[in-house]
Amino acid sequence: MTAMIPSYFFFEKKWQRLDNFKKKHYLCAILDTLFIHLTIRTEKSMGIFSFTQEIAIDLGTANTIIIVNDQVVVDEPSVVAINRSDNKMVAVGRKAQQMIGKGGTRIDTVRPLRDGVIADFYACEMMIRGMIQMIPKQTHLFTPNIRMVVCIPSGSTEVEIRAVRDSSEHAGGRDVYMIYEPMAAAIGMGIDVESPEGCMIVDIGGGTTEIAVISLGGIVANKSIKIAGDDFNSDIVEYMGRMHNLRIDEPTAERIKIAVGSALPELDEPLDDFVVIGPNKVTALPMTVPVSYQEIAHCLEKSIAKVENAVLQALESTPPELYADIVKRGIYLAGGGALLHGLAKRLTDKITIPFHVAEDPLHAVARGTGIALKNVRNFAFLIR
Ligand code: ADP
Ligand code: MG
Repeated sequence: MTAMIPSYFFFEKKWQRLDNFKKKHYLCAILDTLFIHLTIRTEKSMGIFSFTQEIAIDLGTANTIIIVNDQVVVDEPSVVAINRSDNKMVAVGRKAQQMIGKGGTRIDTVRPLRDGVIADFYACEMMIRGMIQMIPKQTHLFTPNIRMVVCIPSGSTEVEIRAVRDSSEHAGGRDVYMIYEPMAAAIGMGIDVESPEGCMIVDIGGGTTEIAVISLGGIVANKSIKIAGDDFNSDIVEYMGRMHNLRIDEPTAERIKIAVGSALPELDEPLDDFVVIGPNKVTALPMTVPVSYQEIAHCLEKSIAKVENAVLQALESTPPELYADIVKRGIYLAGGGALLHGLAKRLTDKITIPFHVAEDPLHAVARGTGIALKNVRNFAFLIR
């Protein structure tokens, strides 16, 4: 401080000797330097200038996944719990899922997407908003501009695409792009979707199984059926009631499927029985039933055969040049349904084309959407 005083007087004397033109010139230079310095510092520390948050969303019937900077930051079931009296959101994701069947008349648990499309627009918007709020916070002064890439089923109609766009925009997205799910799945599995060599993706989600042939950055053939994970669960609920007189609900069926869900009655690596406790359908007395994977293979047979047929139909409508590529490369399986034990083997044996399961089938679509987000300017197949 003491050193600053003499230098100030020195500066003042010099300053008085300057003419007005020079004074003005120096003042402008000082202000300019200060301004640049401040701008750089604030941009670095808080990012308040033109801050854009970029997020990729896989809005699935069963699970919603959000990716930021290649990291999965949100991975939650697509469920919202809504208070019936004021229509406000009580919980979202896993917390809401735990309320299924327990909220009585006060709380409604809603799955906003059914069969791959938005069935409840209001609930969907609330869910997206809730999920975005779950993203770990960064420091910024203003609400950022949100750039989003959201994926949509390949068979979406104009109206359905619009519904996804509107929901995303209402939930805060200012710059919304969309990508077809099989395209995202392929990108997520590291396939070069822009090459002329064709590939086939089979994505077995919660509500739909999507089959698509991709080549030159476009979907050449696609087939979507409303048979997927949810139907496997309903098959199990029905089977347990019919065969064991045991009343179970959907979450228990899901646990059975994950533990002993099988597409083949003979597995190379057999699974241990899964024990279920529940009420007898007739007497309401508690029952303990061990469930084997052979039983579940039998119970899922019809639904899996439908998936198989859909793949065959998609192959039928594939142009021969691309068909040859697919036979050479094999068919890629994604979505949670790809985790059914023995599914890839069963399909390979039946269709005589090798089936490969994605490394992380539940996240393939989301990862691909995340990569698309980084390439919004390069990927011409993104929909605005
Ligand atoms: P969506 O994209 O429709 O949200 P996902 O690709 O997230 O669907 O897959 C969810 C489906 O996968 C659910 O029906 C779930 O039951 C099923 N699933 C998850 N894990 C397994 C598993 N280990 N075995 C069989 N099915 C599974
Ligand atoms: Mg999906």
